[in-house]
Amino acid sequence: MLMKDAAKLKQILSTPRRVVVTVHTNPDADALGSALGFASILKQQGHAVTVISPNEYPDFLKWMKGQEEVIVFEQQQEIARELLARAEVICCLDFSDLERIGHMGDIVRQSSAVKVMIDHHLEPEAFADFEQWSIEAGATAELIFDLAEEMDWVHYIGAAEADCLYAGIMTDTGGFRHPNTTQHIHEVVARLIGRGANTARVAKLVYDTNTESRLRLMGFVLSQRLVVMKEYDVAYIYLTLDDQKKFNVQKGDTEGLVNYALSIANITLAAMFTESKDMVKISFRSVGAFSVNEFARKYFNGGGHANAAGGKSELSLQDTIEQFKSLVIKYKQELEHEINTI
Ligand code: 5GP
Ligand code: MN
Repeated sequence: MLMKDAAKLKQILSTPRRVVVTVHTNPDADALGSALGFASILKQQGHAVTVISPNEYPDFLKWMKGQEEVIVFEQQQEIARELLARAEVICCLDFSDLERIGHMGDIVRQSSAVKVMIDHHLEPEAFADFEQWSIEAGATAELIFDLAEEMDWVHYIGAAEADCLYAGIMTDTGGFRHPNTTQHIHEVVARLIGRGANTARVAKLVYDTNTESRLRLMGFVLSQRLVVMKEYDVAYIYLTLDDQKKFNVQKGDTEGLVNYALSIANITLAAMFTESKDMVKISFRSVGAFSVNEFARKYFNGGGHANAAGGKSELSLQDTIEQFKSLVIKYKQELEHEINTI
């Protein structure tokens, strides 16, 4: 897609600027890959660019070029605040609602910097001066490539940048399995391969980095913490704080577990509830027309995409699950035969 007022943004970026690139809390491969790819494109043009993540990101992303220079707001608040205060341009990638960056949200909202938002999540907040926003896009990384093309920046994408962007596309399309896997996204991937992306290496680095404890956690979760509500085409997984302690769960270890619940034949809605000290974090996945974005937004203070969303609850783990189960009963009809609506 094309960015409105791209020429104006190009003009702003025609002299070296202090730029902050930021991503949503709990950044995934698309968020971090887009940010690092984009940051590198800008750096090569002489801008002083820093990527700030609201919190720590998983180890399986720690191969991305430039990741060692990422500032983690939660751990380096003073530096991060200083960088944000001095930024002339702030780029918000893979989110479009300032709620998604926690305490950084108000700082960005109140900043006088030029704001650029590049994202593909539903219901964006109107805070940016420049928007590259489309729910048609399968990944923010795809939008970064489109923008690079429009701005004549593709030559700044080398193998390392292409790997970062490819990782975002590969994961956000669920390994090219979700309905967001369009002709265009394949074309972008073809171009990324042309720029040097090593698809097999990226797949290996992102998907095959299980630790022994994670694999054992998976075994435990699938045998002891998976509940199938067959009558409703729903399956969910839960994880208590004790479980996490027992299996030494690290950031990223629970990522993707919800998809195992969705991989059961005829399941329309899958959820994963992860207990933490002050809340329960929830991941939702669905098949077909049942929108987990709406579901998460309405009942669990969250949002995301139509078929992949998240939210949170301040109830106990048990009460959160009870609430979910009563909603499932309420939505019985909407949850039926969703395979036909893909
Ligand atoms: P995941 O389940 O992988 O954490 O998240 C799935 C999708 O939902 C991602 O696109 C993510 O950005 C979004 N998401 C996850 N948690 C939240 C949340 O608490 N609020 C909102 N608005 N979106 C979320
Ligand atoms: Mn994304």
